Amino acid sequence: MTEMLLKYFREQQKQAETERIYNTQCPYCSMQCKMQLVEQTHVKRKTYKTIGRDNPTSQGRLCIKGMNAHQHPLHKDRIQYPLLKVNGEFVKISWREALDYIKEHVTEIQEKNGADALGVYGSASITNEEAYLLGKFARVALKTKYIDYNGRLCMSAAASAASKTFGMDRGFTNSLQEIPFTECIMLAGTNIAECQPTIMPYFEKAKENGAFIIAIDPRETGTTKIADLHLKLKPGSDAALANGILKVIIEENYLDERFLQERVNGFEEVMQYVACLEFSVIEEITGVPLEKMYQAARMFGQRETGMIFTARGVEQQTDGSAAVQNFLNILLSVGKIGKPRCGYGAITGQGNGQGAREHGQKADQLPGYRSIENHEHRMYIADVWNIEEKDLPRKGVSAYEMIEKIHDGEIKGLFLVCSNPTVSNPNANFVKKAFEKLEFLVVADMFESETAKLANLILPASSYLEDEGTMTNVEGRVTLREASFPRRGEIKHDWEILCEIAKVLGKEEYFSFSSAEEIFNELRIASKGGIADYSGITYERLRAEKGILWPCRSLTDKGTERLFETRFAHSDGKAMMVPVSNQAIVPKAKITKKYPLYLTTGRVVSHYLTGVQTRKSASLSARNFESFMEIHPSTAKKYEISNQELVQIESSCGRIVVRSKFSEGIRPDTVFVPFHWADSQNVNNLVSEKLDPACKMPGFKVSAVNISPSVKRSSY
Ligand code: SF4
Repeated sequence: MTEMLLKYFREQQKQAETERIYNTQCPYCSMQCKMQLVEQTHVKRKTYKTIGRDNPTSQGRLCIKGMNAHQHPLHKDRIQYPLLKVNGEFVKISWREALDYIKEHVTEIQEKNGADALGVYGSASITNEEAYLLGKFARVALKTKYIDYNGRLCMSAAASAASKTFGMDRGFTNSLQEIPFTECIMLAGTNIAECQPTIMPYFEKAKENGAFIIAIDPRETGTTKIADLHLKLKPGSDAALANGILKVIIEENYLDERFLQERVNGFEEVMQYVACLEFSVIEEITGVPLEKMYQAARMFGQRETGMIFTARGVEQQTDGSAAVQNFLNILLSVGKIGKPRCGYGAITGQGNGQGAREHGQKADQLPGYRSIENHEHRMYIADVWNIEEKDLPRKGVSAYEMIEKIHDGEIKGLFLVCSNPTVSNPNANFVKKAFEKLEFLVVADMFESETAKLANLILPASSYLEDEGTMTNVEGRVTLREASFPRRGEIKHDWEILCEIAKVLGKEEYFSFSSAEEIFNELRIASKGGIADYSGITYERLRAEKGILWPCRSLTDKGTERLFETRFAHSDGKAMMVPVSNQAIVPKAKITKKYPLYLTTGRVVSHYLTGVQTRKSASLSARNFESFMEIHPSTAKKYEISNQELVQIESSCGRIVVRSKFSEGIRPDTVFVPFHWADSQNVNNLVSEKLDPACKMPGFKVSAVNISPSVKRSSY
């Protein structure tokens, strides 16, 4: 049989008449692995495969998602033409008709209700050029203040914490190349083994070199397996755990006194606050034994070098921003930043989670990480855009708050790009109802996602194989994603779509771009002098240098590999520590008699976000074709639940049904459900609408639930 198969494959190989290679980058996570699509043309058909390509970040590696990434853009369900909903059915129309439809409805809604009756909802999966243009489109073409994006649900807590502590927010303060040589690593709420698999070898190498690895997670995961110490905390108690570790560091004096004196403000206040906290209370809140907190603090304090990484486990809480700040308090107290093999990383989730949060897609932001409420910043960007400063709208509201405004009828029309908010937002039942109220919903996407199905008009958008542009990866490295695969049907790039809509709205003079590179060249000027300064980066340099870490302030600037070596980005050059409470200001879900278990959510290796792309991939879908609830066998026994049985999970917001999956590695008071599925399997139906007041991050990581077998058993 094997011989026969080999013969068959050899024959196929011989029959391949031509082979074409398309260079690109993976559309999924923030590692942005460089890859090649290999297209072989045989006598009767074409075959495709994706292979890795060498580069400084992923070094040629791909994970299972990357290896199968070509399956969704080549899928038969790909939208190839504008689709207008007529009597409940989508019908194919021309671009001319689509643009006229948009013009008519934009004009009507804004004349009747004002400019802010329209909103824009963006994405952290689009290129820097498109994120930049979307911000400009909202403010200049639509003149609305309402724009925000799905990164609000992903990176906002880490971004807010880093901005407050360091004065700037770049995902990693160093380059990945330093990780293997650091001596102690704290991985807080991050499951890199499943979420960013190609980053794992950096940590494995560190371990081989003798690093002590501390993992903080309520579950055992592929990532906790490489840890020397696993702190299996109760969901939502990260800020308190950081206080416990900090208290030991202070008590046993692992402090870097000189660093604290010369480079940090606020340490005294933190020290006084932490001194008042009781270890017994922290133990109670976190469920982590005191001796393990001591061990973590001693290893991190005593080793010469160390790094802390946080991700959504810490961040997606109603005190996510403060919890991250508290981990940064640990880092600063021992002076492990701004020098070789020491630093902080927020492991970004989405492909362009970094770049998409820098150039104006956020409600309060202008390009280059400028503030929309700062007069000088407004003047600068108004000048770049050739408009009056007074015509630049003020700040809007966050993604979920925009949805509340839709529900209240204040926002009547929405432009949505590359996102699936009716599945990804908390309180998903409410979100769907809000979207159903919209008078006008235009969605640019590759597929009829759950949200696109609610649209009046769907516009066919291009994929990572077709859409050239820059992406900024987990390190803060700007990379050029080549993309030259031919587009099918009447698919357009997001930036082309925005330019064409702007044109019919009479704003052509501000959107007369004919390539992504032209947009990037305007972005460079717009970012110049800002925190995220890209002005020294060009497409030519990106091709030659294989990526540049920002800030890069001139054509001769090599970029910035390691941040904060001599000063932090606050005006006095110092970092800022602040005391962080064990308890969130916006209370988190508490377990009660009615809802006696914690629910936490996350990812699986074979899917990405709400699964709109990965659920179209046969190879990825086959690995995880449905959602599940991970549960400890002892808990399952208590609730009379068998392994692989359909289970109903209920919170105060809603209920879902998924299959049980036993795991000895999860806390007995906690269940875990991934968030890649929609409808009756959408775990966000169970998550409340409460937001972190500092950054408006929803509390995805902690809900209180009850569980029961989905089918009631008879008692015979
Ligand atoms: Fe690389 Fe992430 Fe894509 Fe996997 S999903 S290939 S780690 S970019």
